[in-house]
Amino acid sequence: MSTTWSMHEAEDLRSRIQGAVVAADDPGYDAARALWNAMIDRRPLAVVRAAGDADVAATIAFARRHGLDLAVRSGGHNVAGNGSVDDGIVLDLGDLTQVTVDPQAGTVRVQGGATLKDVDAATAPHDLAVPIGVVSGTGVAGLTLGGGVGWLTRAHGLTADNLVAAELVTADGTTVVASDTENPDLLWALKGGGGNFGVVTSFTFRAYPLGPTVLGGNFVYGADRWREAWHALEEWTRDLPDAMTTITTTTTPPPMMEMGDQPLLLVGFAWASPDRALGESLVERLRRAAPPDAEEVGDVAWVEWQSAFDALVPKGVRAYWRNTSFDRLDDDVIDVLVRRGQEQTWVGTAFDVHHLGGAYGRVAEDATPFPNRAARYWLNVYGFWTDAADDDDRVAFVRGFSRDMEPFATGGQYVNFQGAEATGHRALDPAVTFGPEKYRRLVEVKRRFDPENVFRINHNIPPA
Ligand SMILES: Cc1cc2nc3c(=O)[nH]c(=O)nc-3n(C[C@H](O)[C@H](O)[C@H](O)COP(=O)(O)OP(=O)(O)OC[C@H]3O[C@@H](n4cnc5c(N)ncnc54)[C@H](O)[C@@H]3O)c2cc1C
Repeated sequence: MSTTWSMHEAEDLRSRIQGAVVAADDPGYDAARALWNAMIDRRPLAVVRAAGDADVAATIAFARRHGLDLAVRSGGHNVAGNGSVDDGIVLDLGDLTQVTVDPQAGTVRVQGGATLKDVDAATAPHDLAVPIGVVSGTGVAGLTLGGGVGWLTRAHGLTADNLVAAELVTADGTTVVASDTENPDLLWALKGGGGNFGVVTSFTFRAYPLGPTVLGGNFVYGADRWREAWHALEEWTRDLPDAMTTITTTTTPPPMMEMGDQPLLLVGFAWASPDRALGESLVERLRRAAPPDAEEVGDVAWVEWQSAFDALVPKGVRAYWRNTSFDRLDDDVIDVLVRRGQEQTWVGTAFDVHHLGGAYGRVAEDATPFPNRAARYWLNVYGFWTDAADDDDRVAFVRGFSRDMEPFATGGQYVNFQGAEATGHRALDPAVTFGPEKYRRLVEVKRRFDPENVFRINHNIPPA
């Protein structure tokens, strides 16, 4: 524990903060420090639940004055555990969840601690949607600052692509605006460069007409049909309109899904267009090419669709994830996907193949730090389980799978799907994550806004 921390410091911190300060001896400490990933068990000196921007600035100043590590948390879903830190201060924005929709302008302003469900709940009554992720408890901040993929990615791009402005409290306590006209280099850096540049207290996003329902569904295939389904999917995804986003999952379903106990392939799709007849004809094309063993397809309310997978990934599971971009869905890749899918016979760990392209692929490579717009597909292997005794095996599975995909990887990694070794003060490997030129630009912005690397508990971009 830091030598500069005592009861006196805890009282001093409390006296400067309007929100709650939960220190190690306080009731509720364990709940306050808990992250989505139970494998990350850090013990901060105190968790500050900010009540407003002034608390943000006061917490940053306090951590700096005492030479303490500062972790910033929004939804606490970061798999690497960047929302907490041992022997430091956690600045938790989870009480700052306001969302304001401007239907005329087609924009949505979101406070720094909001989760995805806060955004969907506010936009749905206006038949608008912001492209965000697929599990409603995820924090908007971490999601956006890393990129943000979901059911509207092909229709409208990443969450970060739709970020038009942000307000940040920087390391010296100043509030700065990032937009096309004010600090445009900072706005650029926020679109994938993570929490390196300051604490974002508000995001403004572009929103799109959608709903109130979308055509969505799943085709389900048993293991003997996977090759056929993958081949059909490869062909289907060659010329799909942007409005169709597909995420294909291999998983051993939990009992609540009532789908048996064998690994299944689920081709999930969402059609983000009012042209329902076209959406149905596209779905029919896939149905004919690879008739599913079971299916569930129909109109579903957008908010419902956006939380349909929540129960599968509850807070408190143990988790380790990896991500690979690739371009081919040929026999060699399908061999790996089928073999690994059949090995994964425990409930929990699953993997998704996202079909990319569309609006996502049309964003110029240098328009954001986010890597590899040319990738046609993405694999996310998201290991999660409940028993600590399984940690080594489950982590080894995810790493082994990731190694098997290396021959097909086309470069660039999504920081939001990197596991625990990518946390804290470690430098990113720029060649792997962003590529050297983007990394150079990110370092420049970092030097300007956080020259002392106060914001280092993240996928860190050191200023030096
Ligand atoms: C169940 C689950 C489902 C997911 N689904 C998706 C998905 O569909 N699409 C997708 O793209 N990703 C998804 N992810 C990954 C997710 O985007 C990342 O885990 C992301 O980091 C979570 O953000 P958070 O705010 O919840 O995390 P936190 O742990 O709170 O923070 C994550 C990082 O962001 C920084 N940060 C947080 N708030 C701020 C702020 N206000 N200002 C500056 N920095 C800040 C933190 O310092 C930390 O480095 C999912 C993750 C989980 C666990």
